[in-house]
Amino acid sequence: MKLIILDRDGVINYDSDNYIKSEHEWEAIPGSLDAIARLNRNKYRVVVVTNQSGLARGKFDINALNAIHRKMHTHLSQYGGKIEAVFFCPHEPDDHCSCRKPEPGLLHEISRRLRVPLYKTTIVGDKLSDMEAALAVKANPVLVKTGYGQALLDSGRLADDIAVFDDLASVVDSLLKAG
Ligand SMILES: [Zn+2]
Repeated sequence: MKLIILDRDGVINYDSDNYIKSEHEWEAIPGSLDAIARLNRNKYRVVVVTNQSGLARGKFDINALNAIHRKMHTHLSQYGGKIEAVFFCPHEPDDHCSCRKPEPGLLHEISRRLRVPLYKTTIVGDKLSDMEAALAVKANPVLVKTGYGQALLDSGRLADDIAVFDDLASVVDSLLKAG
């Protein structure tokens, strides 16, 4: 069994500068749900780690977040896919918590709970904070150009040795081809 850890906004669903505040605002990026289902069929466990500072900022509450995740799970199940767990940080930067990416707190928690070492794990995200969290735990960071990924590439702030793909579907194509 292999583990892959996905960021949510900008990787699975379209992101918004104004936060994804309700299930109505949650819309899957084409190909992402099918990609997760393909991972499952190829014996990957899929877990989501997401910064949700909108909670601390009062943009939405835990009921709205739960409804968003219900929608994500429901739509994914239509493809036969399954996200095993969603780990989220509810804090804002000023809280200086240990779970908001780039801090690796949630990644360590996943490793403990699932009893899977992180150094072989692929972590997919669209932000520098995702890549930094992955590097902090010696996982394999992968950037997608969806979400803020293209802007990060354009900024020149991404290290040259980080793998870049168009979207989650392309990441999964590559992983499954590599076997
Ligand atoms: Zn946190």
